Amino acid sequence: MTIHVFKRFAFVFLLLVQAVGLCAKDFVLVIDAGHGGHDPGAVGATSKEKDINLRVALAFGRLVEGNCPDVKVVYTRKTDVFVTLNRRAQIANDAKADLFVSIHTNSVAGNKTAKGASTWTLGLAKTQSNLDVAKRENSVILYEDDYKQVYSGFNPYSSESYIIFELMQDQYMEQSVNFASMIQRQFKNYSGRNDRGVHQAGFLVLKASAMPSVLVELGFISTPSEEKYLNTDKGVGSLSRSIYNAFLQYKEEWECKNSNAEPAKVEAAHQERQMAATQSPDAGSDDEALIFKVQFLASSKRLDLDDGSFKGFEQVGCYEDGGMYKYTCYDSADYDYVSRMRREVAKKYKDAFVVAFKDGKRMDINKAIKEFKSKK
Ligand SMILES: [Zn+2]
Repeated sequence: MTIHVFKRFAFVFLLLVQAVGLCAKDFVLVIDAGHGGHDPGAVGATSKEKDINLRVALAFGRLVEGNCPDVKVVYTRKTDVFVTLNRRAQIANDAKADLFVSIHTNSVAGNKTAKGASTWTLGLAKTQSNLDVAKRENSVILYEDDYKQVYSGFNPYSSESYIIFELMQDQYMEQSVNFASMIQRQFKNYSGRNDRGVHQAGFLVLKASAMPSVLVELGFISTPSEEKYLNTDKGVGSLSRSIYNAFLQYKEEWECKNSNAEPAKVEAAHQERQMAATQSPDAGSDDEALIFKVQFLASSKRLDLDDGSFKGFEQVGCYEDGGMYKYTCYDSADYDYVSRMRREVAKKYKDAFVVAFKDGKRMDINKAIKEFKSKK
């Protein structure tokens, strides 16, 4: 395959981006099962919060995966492992998530009658009991050895620590509260749960995630009848279905909003790609040139351009090799640049690697690097 074919593909790609414009996106959903590993979360008489959270998180994820092919589901954990709070938010940020849902189970010390579900967004706690929920959930950072450094001296049990949430601006508040209300409506109407409402409090995990985000408290593990319900298939099935129903509603609104705002955005992205394509050093200008690219994906099928795999990458190209379609980006004669871009791409595609082409043909990467260095 020659460089000219790459150029042609790039051109066709640009046209297609324009043509499919409005649908050329997907939705990234991050599902965060609270606690895990040596952090059990709240502990009931017969069960642990971490296990309930995970069951509901996986059931919710399965519903989305099974019914929404346009949604990419990312889990912060799928098994019983410990994940730090910052890592959870980082997973969501790296995935450029459109929505973050953290799933938890409530508990009140010395109380065996509290009932119902609540959904929380980031904000300032208005009451002591709201603050207590945030304190309990934030206290998981004490399981991290270096929490004092990592969370800049934040003491989850000290009310003074929560002053940081007073000064904070949350640009996603409206969307988060909107989604939280949808979840509560479903908990009440679909699952028949006691509706404890939408509340705000200073949750570290929500603060660190840069997208609309909510934290769900499914019910009270400290109340025997609730603990029983939360550990049945019926309970898990119904609660996960409620969150899923709310998610569908949220996504529908999101699509409406985005399809109105999209043409300008698509056009800007289109121009950006064109600029990148014309400015890239030597890309396609000379068949003799040695070109490096980041290869990030291989597929036996030609991929739909609207599946979101290409989102955010520049100079995306494709070549056929051994019956596979291989997808590349960031073409350049400068190996150092491509190598840097590989690290960026690897945040999304961890197996991304650098490939080299000469005269439009794949060449041995080690030889190519040697040649690049000898000419430097
Ligand atoms: Zn929790």
